[in-house]
Formats: sequence, C-alpha cells, structure tokens
Amino acid sequence: MFDARAFILTMQAERVRVQIDGNDLMLSGNRSAIAAHLPEIRAHKAELIACLTQATNDEPTPPPLATALRAEVEAWMDAAGETDPETRREILTSYGFDPGFRYPDSGRRACRQCANLEADGGCRAARRGQIPLTSKFYTHPDGIDALHRCIGYRPGLDDHDPMTLRRTAS
Ligand code: SF4
Repeated sequence: MFDARAFILTMQAERVRVQIDGNDLMLSGNRSAIAAHLPEIRAHKAELIACLTQATNDEPTPPPLATALRAEVEAWMDAAGETDPETRREILTSYGFDPGFRYPDSGRRACRQCANLEADGGCRAARRGQIPLTSKFYTHPDGIDALHRCIGYRPGLDDHDPMTLRRTAS
C-alpha cells in the first residue's frame, strides 16, 4: 500500500520540496529526482495532497526534551503562535537553554551554524563556486565545529546573531 508520508520523506531526502498549492502539488528542487518519481506522484496525487493537508492542520508537536536544539524549540514556538516573550523565556528555560544566550561575536562561526552546510557535510557555497580558491568539494579542514571566518557563511537556524560579518575563509 502506498505510504504518502514515507514517500514525502524520501523526496525530501532527495532534496525535493513538496508543497500544496490550492488543490495542486508544487514540486521544486532536485529535477532529476522529480522526473524519476513523476509517475508515482501522478498516480498518488490525491493521497499526497491529503497527507500534506493533514500535516498543515495538525497541531505542531514540541521537540523531544532530551535532544531538542534551541532552534527547534524556537521553530515550534513560532509554529504554535507563541509570541509572549515571558512564556517563550520560560519554555526555553524548561528545555535547559539560557534565554539570553548569544554566540560570542568574534565574527567567527562554525560550518554547523551555516545554512550552506549540506546534509552530507559538504559546503553548498563551495559547490556553487562561491568560495574563491577552493575546490567544489571544500569542507573546512578542522571540521564542521571549528570556528572560522568564511566569505560564504550564511546564518543558519542556530545562529542567533545573523549580523555576522562575512570575511574571507580562514
Ligand atoms: S559557507 Fe563557509 S561556513 Fe558555510 S558551510 Fe561552507 S565553508 Fe562552512
């Protein structure tokens, strides 16, 4: 039996974004994956739309206490429409986060904080040729947790100071 949720997760893993647009499906991202899955998408369009509609209507569930990232907790509060600053502080505290914490602003960031870090550990900016004098397969030599300044840096979900300066890779 066709499992719409599992199919959508597979598509997302292949970097395909699946959204609903009125009564239709909207696909973007990895074109070859879209083309490969197109017959199945067409055959199960109604189930896929129903699955996405249900996901939209469902109450957002809080991230698990033991493993939640701060960004996940904040995304959950946003999705749940929680805007009261005091309540947000209390929720962050209950998860063990310091609500007032900010990364020390030396201008250095880790690849793990960067929106250009791909799921496979590679750098999207390098693959696009946006980091001068590096190969398309560039990854920071000291690893994704090493602080450095990078011209390709884009603040990711866990960077709470998106005013980060962009400087040359070092
Ligand atoms: S753009 Fe720079 S900081 Fe971001 S993942 Fe690539 S090397 Fe790391």
